Amino acid sequence: MRTLLRGAYVLTADENKPFIKDADILMEDNSIVYIGDRKEHEFVDRIQYLYGYLITPGFINTHTHLAMTLFRGWGEDMELGKWLNEKIWPYEAKLTDEDVYYGSIVGIKEMLSTGTTAFVDMYFFEQATIDAVHDVGIRAFITPGIIEKEGWKDRVDQIVALRSALRSDYVEIHLSLHGFYTCGPDVVEYVIEKAKETGAFVHIHLLEAPWERGAIEAKHGKDFIKKYYDKGLFSDIHVIAAHGVWISDDELEILANANFALAHNPQSNLKLVSGIAPIWKYLQAGMTVSIGTDGAASNNNLDLIEEIRTAGMLGKYKAEDPEALPSKELFYMLTKYGAKAVKRDDIGVLAEGNKADLVVWSVDNVEWLPFWDTEEGMYAHLIYSVQSKSSVKRVWVSGKEVYREGHLMTDIPYLEGFKASVKRIFGGE
Ligand SMILES: [Zn+2]
Repeated sequence: MRTLLRGAYVLTADENKPFIKDADILMEDNSIVYIGDRKEHEFVDRIQYLYGYLITPGFINTHTHLAMTLFRGWGEDMELGKWLNEKIWPYEAKLTDEDVYYGSIVGIKEMLSTGTTAFVDMYFFEQATIDAVHDVGIRAFITPGIIEKEGWKDRVDQIVALRSALRSDYVEIHLSLHGFYTCGPDVVEYVIEKAKETGAFVHIHLLEAPWERGAIEAKHGKDFIKKYYDKGLFSDIHVIAAHGVWISDDELEILANANFALAHNPQSNLKLVSGIAPIWKYLQAGMTVSIGTDGAASNNNLDLIEEIRTAGMLGKYKAEDPEALPSKELFYMLTKYGAKAVKRDDIGVLAEGNKADLVVWSVDNVEWLPFWDTEEGMYAHLIYSVQSKSSVKRVWVSGKEVYREGHLMTDIPYLEGFKASVKRIFGGE
């Protein structure tokens, strides 16, 4: 099947050809086989005329807990420890596969409708999330949660088995460590061993809140970054770390030149008063900085446009420099740096040979006025002006259209299931 998208403006995230007007994008099966100026093509099965629309790569959300859409708005204005103990953990203990499935579908719909086509997830009941991913069609990097509690080793082994058994164009399974403060040296070293054996990356929460360092050092010693670097983590094994608000200068020197990417989650960090990560400093040191939403319970949405806007404003403020974090850099955080974070060179950039993961934006809304049909003008509106939900019109993942005009292309009656789950978990309506 060869589908041609004709006539749109395109921001590619490709340094060689960043902006195209009146473009042709030809997709064959799950990939892009041509992107560039309009020309004649042989054997086109379907043409979609998209004059006046903008196409971007699908965004990559590099840190979330997808099914926590179930907990949205449940337990607000609370300190983290109290919130976890009273509002999250007792209710997470009641979750079933079915709840996580419906929570995942809601999260996936929200992501597609705001321009995201891939995400990195850390949660439980991973098979339910994988099923939801396949039922809708979005790209997922699933890193089932690992925390030091009874049975952790079996859990790691199960995840490794799942990774080697799974064959999917949409899903990759990788390893996680919930955090250094919730996983002791035995767990960390076992996960390192398994990551080395399998080539999986490791997804972790790192230095989110100020109190975390003391708790980590009590378990792992003062130079824990250097210690685990020498054992293979951040060196042989790639790591995606969420937050990284409190990385020290010595640690920055190691991590900026390591096999490491940060998932910056500014809204969650603000809401929980964790701090503001100095991402301009990190980027200038050479670190890969991508963007994530964290879970919907601490954000409270999965909209990466909102997140990148916050990242831009906070980042400038933190750097005390309005020239810091130019819009193009922020656009890369949504796209190609996200791809780098998940170690993929075939997503995040619209180029020939890459996967056809792309988003079609209407530029008709008043917030696109005045309409600047230049590369810089497009970045400016996309990062600082657009309302994602009313602008995202159509989404393709792996060459398949999965979302159009407010609707998933698959007909899953998820709403009743989601409501029933919420009622069972929390009681009442
Ligand atoms: Zn998180």
